This record gives sequence, C-alpha cells and structure tokens, in this order.
Amino acid sequence: MVWIVRQGAYLLALLLVGLVPAAASAQSIPVERVCHASASATETWHDLARTPARWRCDDGGWSLSSEAVLIRFDLGAGDGAVLPQSISTHTGYFERIDVGIVDRSGRTRWASWGPDDLQHIASGPYMSLDLVGVDSNSAQIVVRVIRPWSKTMLSEMTLDPAPHGTGWPMGRIVAMAAICGMLLVPLFINTAFYSALPERYVLWHLLMVAAMLVQAAFATGFVHLIVEPGLMTEWQLSNMAFAVMAGAALMFATTFLEPDKSDPRLRRAGRSLAPVIVLVGALSCVPAELLRPLSAPAMHIAVGATIGVIAAIIIDAWRRGSRVVRFQIIGWTPIMVSGTYRIAAYLIPSLHPTEAIVLYQLALAFEVLVTALGIVSRFVDVRQERDDATARAIELEGVADRDPLTGLRNRRSIEGRFDDLFLRGFRTMAVMDLDLFKHVNDTHGHAVGDTVLRAAARALIDDRDTKAIRMGGEEFILLLRGPGSVARAECCRRAISTRVAAEVPGLDRLVTASMGLVEHDTGGTLQIEFATLYARCDRLLYEAKRLGRNRTMKERVTGFDVHGRAVA
Ligand code: GH3
Ligand code: MG
Ligand code: MG
Repeated sequence: MVWIVRQGAYLLALLLVGLVPAAASAQSIPVERVCHASASATETWHDLARTPARWRCDDGGWSLSSEAVLIRFDLGAGDGAVLPQSISTHTGYFERIDVGIVDRSGRTRWASWGPDDLQHIASGPYMSLDLVGVDSNSAQIVVRVIRPWSKTMLSEMTLDPAPHGTGWPMGRIVAMAAICGMLLVPLFINTAFYSALPERYVLWHLLMVAAMLVQAAFATGFVHLIVEPGLMTEWQLSNMAFAVMAGAALMFATTFLEPDKSDPRLRRAGRSLAPVIVLVGALSCVPAELLRPLSAPAMHIAVGATIGVIAAIIIDAWRRGSRVVRFQIIGWTPIMVSGTYRIAAYLIPSLHPTEAIVLYQLALAFEVLVTALGIVSRFVDVRQERDDATARAIELEGVADRDPLTGLRNRRSIEGRFDDLFLRGFRTMAVMDLDLFKHVNDTHGHAVGDTVLRAAARALIDDRDTKAIRMGGEEFILLLRGPGSVARAECCRRAISTRVAAEVPGLDRLVTASMGLVEHDTGGTLQIEFATLYARCDRLLYEAKRLGRNRTMKERVTGFDVHGRAVA
C-alpha cells in the first residue's frame, strides 16, 4: 500500500514537471481584441463586418445554435510585433474552417480547411493550422468555423507565433506517460484483486479505468504517437470513452459502498442514470446537424447529474458512518470541483468555455488512483471480516459440538459427520454404559455422579484413530479405526473403573461399564447408517447388561441387510 502511494506521488510530481512548461508556452501575440459573432452558413464576412452590433468582444456568449461562428482577432499596430504564424485550438469536430487575413486597406485573402487538414499538436487535445502571408500590413485575422461541434474549439482558439511542429517535447512525453502510468496502476490492482475479491464493483472500477485510459490517450494526445485516427473518429471515440467512464463511475459508486450505508433511492438513481449517460454519449457521436447544437450541452448536463448523484451517494454514506467512503471523498473531490467548473463554464452563457485540460486530467488520474486504493483497503477489510467470521464459526462449532460436562464430542457432532468418518476408516463402534450409575447418584449425590462422569470421560482415548463421544447420560461411544480397534476399546472400558477409583475417592463400590461393540469388516459394504450401527451396538450392550454387566459383547459384520440385520 505504502509502495503504491509512493509510486502515485512520484508519478504526480513527474506529471507536474512535464505539464507546467506545456501550459506556460501560451500565446504571446499582441492581440488587441478577440470578438466573435454567430452567423448563418451563407452570410459573408463583409455582411458581418458592417454590423458591429453582431459582434461580442468578451469571454461569454458562445453558442452553437447557428450554422457558423466567426472569430475575429484584431492585431495590435506596434512595429516589430511578433506576427502570428499559426492558429491553434482545442480539438473538436467541424465541417469547414475559413481563415481570412484582412489588411489595413480592408482587402481580405481567404483559405479553407477541412477536418482532416488540421494538424494535431503534440501537447494534448489541440489542433492547429498554419497561417501564410501575415505581415505588418495585416490588421485582422478572421476565422469562420462552419458547423462547429464544441464551444471550446471556438473559445480556446489562439494565434501562435510559430508554426506548430509535430515533434514531441520530452517533458510532455514524460507527463503523458505519467498520467497513463497512474491509470495503469489501478488497472493492475483491479485485475489482481478480482480473483481474490470477486465483487462487481471491482469490475466497474476496471471498466472505469479502461475507459479513462482511452480518454486519457486522446486528452493527452498520446494516441497520436500510435495512430492518426482522423478528427471524426477521435471525437467519437473520446466522447464515447468519456460517457462509458461516467457510466462506470456511477455503477462503481452505487456498488462499492456498504449496502447498509447508503440510501437505496440514491443507488437506484445512480443505476438509472448510468445507461442514460452512455446513451447521450452515443448520440453525441452521431454527426447529424439536428444534434449538433444539443449534443455538447446534453453531455454536460448528464455529466453534471452524474457528479450530483455521486456526490449525494458519498455524502449520504459519510453521514451514515461508512468506513470505506473516506477514499471516495478524497478521490472524488478534485474531479468534482474541476468537473463542475468545466460544466458551469460551458453551460453558463456569460462564462468562457474551457476544458481546463491539465487540471482535469490530473484530477481524473488522482481519482482513479485513490479509489483503487479504496478497493485495496476494502479488500483488507473484507478479508479481516472473513477471517473473523471464520474464527467465530469455528469457535461456535466447537462450543455447539462439545458436551459441556465432559468436554467430549456430543451426539449432534458425531451424527452429522458419521458418513465422512466411516469413509475415512472409522468402522468400529463401541457403545459403553456405566453400570448401575443411578446408584452412584442415589448414594453420593448428583455432584459426585458428575465427577464420576468426568473421570470416566478422561479414561476414554481421543486421538487420530479414536473418537470419543458422550451420547447422553452415562453412555459413551467410541469410533475407532486401524488395527487393534477392538483391543483399544476394551482397554478404555476397563480404564473407566481404575480412573474413577483413582479420581473419585470415597465411592462405596467400583464403577464398571458394559460395552456393545460392532467391528465392521473392511471388505464389506461401504455405506452404513449411523442409526443402524448404533442400534446394533445397543442390542449387544443390552446383552452385556443382561449377562451380568462389566463385560463386552461384540460382533464382526460384513454389512447389514435392508432390514438392518447384521450379516456376520
Ligand atoms: P444400568 O446398569 O442398567 O445402566 O443401570 P443405571 O443405573 O446406570 O441405568 P439408569 O438408566 O437406570 O440410570 C441412569 C442414571 O444416570 C439416571 C440419571 O439420573 C443419571 N444421569 C443421567 N445424566 C446424568 C448427569 O449428567 N449427571 C449425573 N450425576 N447423573 C446423570
Ligand atoms: Mg447405566
Ligand atoms: Mg444408560
């Protein structure tokens, strides 16, 4: 556990080292103003340029409800200013991007890009296109995005001072490897633990981590090291992975906590929401114009509901005194805070939509790691509980199967296990009964009678090959196996007299025992009922009593017929 925590902290440190420079290398182009306007697909830049009222020059007011969005960068005038050479933004799907470079006389040169013309930037889920021909005479850069599928690809658009290369900065690779590493740890933990802890929540966590890995591969841009999926596929896969992750997170939250420590209504809400969010995710992958303005808000609302339900489940469990919820609180808090921030920024019109990608990925990886530790801790608890339960069961069994007076096994314990003992070779049964025991009680009192019973019990052997049982009253049974069984039983019967005489002084006469014994031929039938064998011994015991007591009557049988009669 300590090892895992230490590895996690180490990875986190690496991650921060790698991500900080990537985040810091933001825009350094002198841009006076960035304004944006919604338009129809047929409206031209000149139509809009003439109507300043259509433009909005603050962070808010982004919308996908119209077919096109224009973003206008008003360049600063300063001589010797750094000129933009590329445009970059958060990855998102679109139909077409037109870029116009407007010079000081108002003349505009246009160029167009399709979804597969953009270059992926090796610093996360970003894409870029190169600007050619910007010079000191350029006054504005206008970007017209036709049918954008996400607000952040509009709101996070920046002008960059250099064309983006396809090279991977070392720090970036380390950071991404660290995020993926943080996700691999829980993947291994889950897989390893499932065999020992076959609980459904381990599988949900596994699915959540797997989906998160896919999502992280896109969010970190790592996927581009392996394949170039194309913008459409990338957008669909990462949306789907995100939805599956959220659904699995819900299922995990509803199954992980102790059942008596959470409200069934909340659990039901979580279980119902899980398929909904997966469905919304699937719908948001369908490239239909009708869905375009709806899919991202629907996804954000569904994720918001997911966060709400998980938060409610956790808070409820915490109030009810759940032990295992602590890891959930620690794990989920950062992701819930950053997730809520993202959702609010997206849904509230006056705010600037942002992916806050570094923060968000860190929070995700942290969440996964901590909840995986929660599973480890739960595993330790479960095993502890199981060990305790086993110990208690053994203890109870011991108590229930023992006769309190003598400490020997009781009738109940032997009847239940007889078939097993018989198969294991215990085929000789001897039933012993103290002779005229009533007289002991009558003469010396019940307490002395008890002492005699205890002494008699101690005279009986109890070892690997001999089981001693108190059947009740002053009657005992020996079950024996191996050579010399008959002699050992006889020896015990005689030992009762000497043992009682030695341990209970003052008795007026010698306490003896009679015995009925059946030796079962090993070559005979293998199956025999306890009751049949016992009844036979009892018959022989009765014979011994009748013939004057203090003696043994025995028989060797090969089996019993259907009427319980011995076959000698
Ligand atoms: P027999 O030789 O025919 O077996 O004569 P017996 O007197 O031993 O047989 P009987 O069945 O008449 O008496 C058994 C007595 O054992 C009666 C009962 O009070 C006594 N007894 C049964 N259980 C206990 C016990 O736990 N403690 C004591 N002190 N006496 C017991
Ligand atoms: Mg008796
Ligand atoms: Mg008796």
